[in-house]
Amino acid sequence: NPALTQFGDRMTHLTGVRAIMKDIIETLRSGHGQDFINLSAGNPVILPEVERLWRECTAELLASPEYGEVVCRYGSSQGYQPLIAAVAADFNQRYGLNLTDRNVLITAGSQALYFFAANALGGYTAEGRLKQIVLPLSPDYTGYGGVTLIAEALKAYKPTIDRNETQHRFKYRPDFSQLEVNESTGFVLFSRPCNPTGNVVSDEEVKQITALSNRYNVPVLVDSAYAPPFPALNFTPMTPVFGSNIVHCMSLSKAGLPGERLGIAIGDERIIQVLEAFQTNLCIHSSRYGQAIAARAIRSGALADISTQVIRLYYQAKFTVLETALEAAMPTDLPWYLHRGEGAIFAWLWLDELPITDWELYQSLKQVGVIPVPGSAFFPGLQEDWDHTRQCLRISLTATDEELATAMQRLAQVVERIYCTA
Ligand code: PLP
Repeated sequence: NPALTQFGDRMTHLTGVRAIMKDIIETLRSGHGQDFINLSAGNPVILPEVERLWRECTAELLASPEYGEVVCRYGSSQGYQPLIAAVAADFNQRYGLNLTDRNVLITAGSQALYFFAANALGGYTAEGRLKQIVLPLSPDYTGYGGVTLIAEALKAYKPTIDRNETQHRFKYRPDFSQLEVNESTGFVLFSRPCNPTGNVVSDEEVKQITALSNRYNVPVLVDSAYAPPFPALNFTPMTPVFGSNIVHCMSLSKAGLPGERLGIAIGDERIIQVLEAFQTNLCIHSSRYGQAIAARAIRSGALADISTQVIRLYYQAKFTVLETALEAAMPTDLPWYLHRGEGAIFAWLWLDELPITDWELYQSLKQVGVIPVPGSAFFPGLQEDWDHTRQCLRISLTATDEELATAMQRLAQVVERIYCTA
């Protein structure tokens, strides 16, 4: 094996879900004819209307003189100009903003964008001071665990929990009595809607977070991979928030283009320039083909329309299937709580006082052919020990209705047995 540096060592360890994926893939392979219901997938479903949109944009591009310019050339690290212009025009019109081209950066997927920010704004300064990446509400996206080269830079905060015992529902909220943003904060980061929980931090809570951050001139990156205007995977009303310290970060992945690697950052040009320079050094730019078809779909309005008319409704209906199946199957006297389904493509189940760990529960569920993701993978940066991190499961809404219903019945039986024999 080659000798690795500290960075090499850090970057060759898989974090969070990616570590569990290995076990899931091996389980699926070793199935011996057993039909597993895979509820671990983060890959969006290929919806026919969405696929058609991208196929049509591709056909138009192929038929246009633009094709050679796009595919046979390097481009600017900031992004393909027609896409930048389409994004700025769309947001100006939709949200009454005054964005110019300088406020938009196209990255090679949004994961890359968080990597740039994590290492440009988080970590040690030239004077040796640690700038922290603050995750104001844990659990959050597992991928944040792998973005910084400096492990100690990541700091997540425990949330408060609003629970309704009779309805078996709950919702996380930022705990403003604990949350600290100050001169040692590099930037604040959270997903809205949230992967894994489906939570949407309220407009009011976002304002509180940005007000805290503005005091110290700290950028706030709002990971809007599931937010409006595309893929618009919010099931509850939410307003995207803009401001001098806010970077609105988007992804085309959940709108049908995960393979093309397209992320979009919208924010103050001074932050955009820092991220752009990082991208130049790392990978030059995102796929130009992907950018050119995205420009067409955004400019025509088709992407935003399909998002609200097809993508959102599809997953919202899946959540209802899951919710109904759980309610029918789960014993009412057990302390189970489903996170309010406010968006994204996952359901998040909390089993309070679970007698075993989430990892052991995952093993038991595999025995009955059901594969969710153990929740402990979704607390990157949380330094304190907390029982709750071992009491949750993420359930993907990408399965069919029948699979979801069957899986919830099996899950209820397993869970009941575990509580009753403890
Ligand atoms: N942020 C969130 C909340 C996600 O769920 C994902 C992917 O699942 C990403 C970022 C990364 O997406 P991509 O790099 O494909 O844009």
